[in-house]
Amino acid sequence: MRTKVLDETRIEEAGAVLRAGGLLGIPTETVYGLGADGLNPEAVAHIFQAKGRPQDNPLILHIPSADWLERYCEEIPPEAYALAERFWPGPLTLILKRKVLVPDAVTAGLDTVGMRCPAHPVTRAIIAAAGVPVAAPSGNTSGRPSPTNVADMLEDMDGKVDAIVDGGPCSVGVESTILDLTLTPPRLLRPGGVTLEQLEAVVGSVAVDKAVRQLLRGDEQPRAPGMKYRHYAPKAPVTVVKGDGAAAARYIRRHLADGDGVICFNEFVPLFEGHPVEPMGPEADQAEQARRVFDALRYFDGTPVSHIWAMCPEESGLGLAVANRLNKAAGFHIVQAGK
Ligand code: AMP
Ligand code: MG
Repeated sequence: MRTKVLDETRIEEAGAVLRAGGLLGIPTETVYGLGADGLNPEAVAHIFQAKGRPQDNPLILHIPSADWLERYCEEIPPEAYALAERFWPGPLTLILKRKVLVPDAVTAGLDTVGMRCPAHPVTRAIIAAAGVPVAAPSGNTSGRPSPTNVADMLEDMDGKVDAIVDGGPCSVGVESTILDLTLTPPRLLRPGGVTLEQLEAVVGSVAVDKAVRQLLRGDEQPRAPGMKYRHYAPKAPVTVVKGDGAAAARYIRRHLADGDGVICFNEFVPLFEGHPVEPMGPEADQAEQARRVFDALRYFDGTPVSHIWAMCPEESGLGLAVANRLNKAAGFHIVQAGK
């Protein structure tokens, strides 16, 4: 199959790919997604094939506005509308009870479905043109860092999808926040562009799923099957070094071996001369760190590094999402730098 790259004016053509049961790379504000008609189980099955994704890892249904929620969900609590009002279109996925018309292929057989209205206007226009909800996970090969620009998505999906729409680089850079509204209190399953603090301001107390901050033990059942998989990982092993930038830099300099790579806050780049270094943004700029984190992880796959050391922001605000992606890339191999 030849993969076409469509510019963002080609809304009708992109919608037609979806309607015909094809696979379409879609730009969103979070990361690039790998979309198909969410009501067509055969098309959805092709997403799993193209990514090499385990069958039990459910997808998110993307809709152009909150008034599509009733088509696919039931027993929708008022909090869903309050959150949609405040954060949609935007990087928030709500887990709700599904209606039977949502195929098992999308939900991996769960009786719930993840729903999101993305902020990228081109993708909303494509979904509206297609007239179907778009099932999509991130557009990477399963296990690899998510793509945040069209070149990264092509690297994984060239020849495997019908087309990718180039909507420019992603403005958020990490996947959507996932909030399970079928539990009381609501539970954060994945931190993302909408922060825990922002959610709590709208719905009150939110529980944080254990899998966000630590590796589940073999005998622990994750809330969603996808939460158990190794994720976002470059080929070389990663060690996350927690602590403020200066302390982490000292720790890394002490432990760094020849040929090791470093992901660090911009201020510390000169300390690692002679090593492959990826700046992740200034220490105080978590939004830039979120935009950069996947590209930084991806970069090392083109280098012969044998180990990657990564600085890590504090786990508050957007830092919770950035730290979660780094920790998962490291398989939760985390050390604490002393003061
Ligand atoms: P991705 O954005 O590539 O990580 O793929 C979609 C994510 O949404 C996966 O991590 C799933 O675990 C999560 N997800 C989708 N549907 C559900 C659901 N019904 N319950 C819990 N998590 C879900
Ligand atoms: Mg993904």
